[in-house]
Amino acid sequence: MGQRTFTIIKPDSVGGNHIGEILTMIEKAGFRIIALKMTYLSRSDAEKFYYVHKGRPFFRNLYLFMTSGPIVAAVLEKEGAQDAVAEFRELIGKTNPELAAEGTIRKKFAASKTRNAIHASDSDENAAWEAAFFFPDKEIIDTKYELPLPEDEIDSD
Ligand code: GDP
Repeated sequence: MGQRTFTIIKPDSVGGNHIGEILTMIEKAGFRIIALKMTYLSRSDAEKFYYVHKGRPFFRNLYLFMTSGPIVAAVLEKEGAQDAVAEFRELIGKTNPELAAEGTIRKKFAASKTRNAIHASDSDENAAWEAAFFFPDKEIIDTKYELPLPEDEIDSD
């Protein structure tokens, strides 16, 4: 299992001004943001992204909701994780917020099964496919912060 996953902060969370609080919960849980953008899904984007759900009774509500406002897409990395996809799904909580555990993102921010605040990939394969849907390789930044000079030199003035 891998150390990366992919997420979308959904239109209800962006509209509710919760981007910062959700990113804080993600970072506090030990995930590093290695790609990030605010964008929109067109109807055709939403249909491609959720093609596995085409034909399900909730599909119309899902794409109408996902195209209703801006979203924030991100690629996340958790160093040392056995299974970043599974750990991140624990953090977001169950699809239905009534069943989401205390302390999860959906428990805190989701209003319903459709307006459920956040998306998370459900496998390493899907995480890679979903990340590539939003980000070209060069926008996934996995270089680490490193001072170019010793601390006393860079702080010397
Ligand atoms: P997730 O991985 O928890 O996001 O759930 P799924 O991948 O199964 O479904 C994708 C999205 O479709 C969910 O986040 C929901 O917004 C929506 N969805 C899934 N199942 C249902 C359902 O039974 N009812 C409604 N209204 N929406 C659903």
